Amino acid sequence: VTFEELNLPENLLKGVYAMKFTKPSKIQSVALPMILANPPENLIGQAQSGSGKTATFVLGMLYRASIDARQRHPQALCLVPTRELARQIMAVTNIMGKYCDIETFLAVPGNDVERGQQVTAQIVIGTPGRVESLIKKRQLDLKDLKLFVLDEADVMIDESGMRDRSLAIKKQIRNRTCQMLLFSATYADDVREFAEKLVPNHNIITV
Ligand code: AMP
Repeated sequence: VTFEELNLPENLLKGVYAMKFTKPSKIQSVALPMILANPPENLIGQAQSGSGKTATFVLGMLYRASIDARQRHPQALCLVPTRELARQIMAVTNIMGKYCDIETFLAVPGNDVERGQQVTAQIVIGTPGRVESLIKKRQLDLKDLKLFVLDEADVMIDESGMRDRSLAIKKQIRNRTCQMLLFSATYADDVREFAEKLVPNHNIITV
């Protein structure tokens, strides 16, 4: 398939061209139809770095957050195990989202929100510790979240703190129809158990 055949909205197709991608990778061609489906579908993807998984879920976040970009609160949240990865995903989101009227917020240690202020960005990318602390301080509200992404689940569960925080954050999502996507390089029993707790009624893709 081609990107044009994946029925991406025009603004996202332009974002793909901004990345200079010419044809979808395997995970992009298989997962994007599920990610962009209405009603939304949940997905667990077993995919390594290099598969093109980042652009896959970044397009999902931009798609869900673009539905009503006038809303000034988080609509898509992506949790990752490290600040560095959060920064990289943020960079990709800002390039691919160049033609969407959307703001992004990097929820990592050191990137503070002014006292008494709330995160108004539609897309939030961050680490579980920082995201949880912003929720506790009532600076990050997940009430209208439409998409929850968790990347590198296998790395995440290696540290019990990150595992528990991710599960606690998921519990804060009140929107029953929030779409859930989880990615992991490996899919051993411990990852499967975690993934099944986090992502109900999922499709599974292996690339
Ligand atoms: P990832 O698996 O998300 O870490 O991506 C690995 C690399 O592949 C990144 O440098 C991407 O920019 C690149 N990439 C992702 N999708 C495509 C595509 N469809 N065509 C060419 N390069 C891609």
